[in-house]
Amino acid sequence: MVAQHRQSIPQDARVPSPPVPTARQLLLQALLVVAVVFLACGLGILTRPEHQLAAFWPTNALLLGLFARRPALASPAGWAAAALGYVAADLLTGSSLPTTLRLTAANLAGVAAGFLVFQRVRHEDRQLQHPLSMLSVLAVSAAAALAAGLAGSLSSSMKLGFLTTSGFWFSAELVCYVAILPVVLLAPAPSTLPQVLRERLARLRRHPRTVLPLLALLLTILLGVVIGGPGAIAFPVPALLWCALAYRLFTTALVTLLLCMWTLIAIATGVIDLQLRDDGPLPVISLRMGMALLAVAPLTVASVNAARNRLLATLNHAADHDALTGTLNRSAFMRRGRELAELAQATGRPVVAMMLDIDHFKSVNDRHGHAAGDAVLTIFAQRMREHLRQDGLFGRFGGEEFAVLLPDLDTDDARTVAERLRHLASEPIPLDDGRMLDVTVSVGLASLSSPMRVDTLEQLLSRADAALYRAKAMGRNRVIA
Ligand code: GH3
Ligand code: MG
Ligand code: MG
Repeated sequence: MVAQHRQSIPQDARVPSPPVPTARQLLLQALLVVAVVFLACGLGILTRPEHQLAAFWPTNALLLGLFARRPALASPAGWAAAALGYVAADLLTGSSLPTTLRLTAANLAGVAAGFLVFQRVRHEDRQLQHPLSMLSVLAVSAAAALAAGLAGSLSSSMKLGFLTTSGFWFSAELVCYVAILPVVLLAPAPSTLPQVLRERLARLRRHPRTVLPLLALLLTILLGVVIGGPGAIAFPVPALLWCALAYRLFTTALVTLLLCMWTLIAIATGVIDLQLRDDGPLPVISLRMGMALLAVAPLTVASVNAARNRLLATLNHAADHDALTGTLNRSAFMRRGRELAELAQATGRPVVAMMLDIDHFKSVNDRHGHAAGDAVLTIFAQRMREHLRQDGLFGRFGGEEFAVLLPDLDTDDARTVAERLRHLASEPIPLDDGRMLDVTVSVGLASLSSPMRVDTLEQLLSRADAALYRAKAMGRNRVIA
């Protein structure tokens, strides 16, 4: 039975197995991993005080993000390439071989643990599309940081004791994972980057106020430097939440990452003075964990905001469009049509209105069934939409009656367009069961070409409707102006 079932699955219904990479692709992928790991290690080592862990160590989170986004890179060759990158960076910057191997093992243990947990994260959470997605990122980050912390402290000399050493390690890793992972997961593909940048700059030029949340953030950061003290790390929170509400998810993730990097480095170098009496390990561990948990807030707000915007867009679309044909409904057509007609009248440009009504549509339903009638309406609307210009409006007024509004068209051109629409409507319509249906349409046309004449959209459409009535009376399947 089971075997029969398997055999009956059509070839194209099976999940296609990923293509086997060529030797050249494998080499390029391994080089990419080595380069990312090596360069990121270099950056981290720059922030590493002598004989201590780095203030900011981005490599592990970058590597996990890379493997998470492109799982093909997480092949045995990819892991080996990553190990090579870690070892090379540490050896070249003066670490001994035992230390290098110990640090590399701890780093890779963290990335591997994070990668395992990431496999269980839902697809929508990987893109932070859900209000609780950041909790999944936090879980991945905590698993990775815990594994790195345990591996790192178990293999180290533990001069500070096991708990302190692992706490140091865990907190440093946690803040990096929480801040960096969202940026890597949400980053636009490199090929779309120029286009994305152009769009953002154009938006900034159109709405200069977009920069305000960012300015507020810079101001509160400056305030933290001037005033200092333990509260300084929370000064930017309101501005950060403003950014989360004003910007897209990726921008919020990037701003949050930069703030985390800045705060950790500013505190490590004394630019922000927390004025703590206790200079033992606990304040540092507490600060890093605080920063990590703080970073969850703006990204959660941004996720909620993105989910809300998507919902609003869906609702707006549903409110403005006809469910069957996907065209504008009557109220949306009238709203946009009024704007279009008023603009045309103000600038003295002509506007053309058309009313289209499918002929004898009732008999399509009667002879072929309601479903066939629905298919005719859908295909008819699709043909009209495809032919009409982007600056025109097309809407369903009810039943089998549609309206068109076109700016910048004189009466002769309007008649040509209408004849073309009538011709398109009369092309045979294929049904799902293979039958072909022939329908025709009658079109009433009215134009507003004289700027002296002040017609409302309603008056223009009612003239088009009267012309349609005449087209029906004269035998249908024709255009009457
Ligand atoms: P005329 O040439 O005079 O326009 O005749 P007609 O049959 O096209 O016009 P009439 O107004 O008599 O019939 C319109 C029909 O359209 C009646 C109605 O059942 C059908 N109709 C309205 N909305 C829908 C719809 O969404 N789907 C389907 N399948 N039919 C619909
Ligand atoms: Mg009709
Ligand atoms: Mg009708």
